[in-house]
Amino acid sequence: MKTVKRINTDSYVIRDILAKSLDLKILNLKEVSNLIALEDDELWDEVFETARIVKEKVYGNRIVLFAPLYISNKCVNNCVYCGFRKGNKKARRKSLSVDEAVQEALLLAGKGYKRLLLVTGEHPKYARVDYLEKIINGIYKNTDIRILHINTAPMSVEDFRRLKSSGVGVYQCFQETYHFPTYRLMHPSGPKADYEWRLDVLNRAIEAGFEDVGMGVLLGLYDWRWDSAALIAHSHRLIKKYGFGPHTLSVPRLQPAEGSELKTTQYKVSDRDFKKIVALYRLALPYVGIVVSTRESSRMRDELFSIGASQVSAGSKTSPWGYIEDSDTEQFEVGDKRNLEEVIGKIASMGLIPSLCTACYREKRSGEKFKHLAQKQALKNFCHENALLSLKEYIEDHASRGLKEQLTKMLNNEIAHNCNGIAEKFKLIEYGKRDIHV
Ligand code: SAM
Ligand code: SF4
Repeated sequence: MKTVKRINTDSYVIRDILAKSLDLKILNLKEVSNLIALEDDELWDEVFETARIVKEKVYGNRIVLFAPLYISNKCVNNCVYCGFRKGNKKARRKSLSVDEAVQEALLLAGKGYKRLLLVTGEHPKYARVDYLEKIINGIYKNTDIRILHINTAPMSVEDFRRLKSSGVGVYQCFQETYHFPTYRLMHPSGPKADYEWRLDVLNRAIEAGFEDVGMGVLLGLYDWRWDSAALIAHSHRLIKKYGFGPHTLSVPRLQPAEGSELKTTQYKVSDRDFKKIVALYRLALPYVGIVVSTRESSRMRDELFSIGASQVSAGSKTSPWGYIEDSDTEQFEVGDKRNLEEVIGKIASMGLIPSLCTACYREKRSGEKFKHLAQKQALKNFCHENALLSLKEYIEDHASRGLKEQLTKMLNNEIAHNCNGIAEKFKLIEYGKRDIHV
């Protein structure tokens, strides 16, 4: 007789799963389900601690920083939860010209950012690849921004090819929810109402040459247990098909938005569950970067810095032209309002290394190659040195006096204990050389 495998949260089963994650092995769906069903708070504390160790093994103690750059809030969709939805008649709409996008990017580069995430609503003109190419070329040509990632609407393979050739690093698109009935309720009209077109988007992006893709579900639309398991299952399918899965998983959690139609949700994700989701992703797919945005409060983000987050935004505005003049409709309310300097200072005070590095994308350490290096734990060797070099540049060019002292102490400690040979490179940076990386 065939035995039915049941969910098992006995401590020995959970500890076996944690041991597998510590070996940096991808968890299967049965193991993921066991973790999701776990209720024992003490065992969850072990899970959090394991997530911290796994993160440290793969990525070292670095946290990479970036900012989103919203280029248009015009949108033909009606996602009920979003301030940019077409039905929000009170929205103040704006799409940046190339010159305006360059001005915003210059302002961010002036604060020390080297990587930006472009974000757009879906619009026949302002999410078209022609428009995006012009914006991307303009920013690369006229600013010190070294890598642009993008979160924009799904497109065809041909358009993705053009987007990739314009020099974008990661293409990000969130399924929002995998639960079809909920998806239909949340996306009543516009091209985004087509569930399958969205579900297939990363296949098209990868086939067009994007080796780094970012995935996520919007936490709070449906039961997080179901949706996070579905997201992991989707990642497994990509790994099986292409040899690599998502480069990053994001954890957007539903926030209030001016003009949103979704006033309440029965699936609100508590802070404790949110922390569990980050740990779950970290353990299920150990080599994947986890992105935590400023949707979350500073308190929550500070906790996540040490249990699994590897990339965080800082000082974000969620409206186009928001950095220069904060007056158009935001996509949602920002929780962590600290600026880049404050977030860098906080990360450093926790003994972690704030990084502004962009080397992997430019050295073509992407897709399967990135996964391979991460699995061999070789990634953190490059990344550690690159992170320190990027921080040294930040100290020279942007840090205020107090932060400069704090970060210099940190770098001196690294010279003394961990990173022989880097002192020479720091000297070169002091003499004005920039963008040194391995
Ligand atoms: N318009 C494109 C799309 O929907 O895919 C790309 C950019 S959209 C502005 C980026 C993401 O923001 C969405 O995929 C969604 O998950 C998230 N988002 C939208 N409204 C939100 C809200 N009220 N709170 C938190 N995240 C939200
Ligand atoms: Fe438009 Fe994206 Fe907002 Fe939906 S989530 S309304 S597609 S900007």
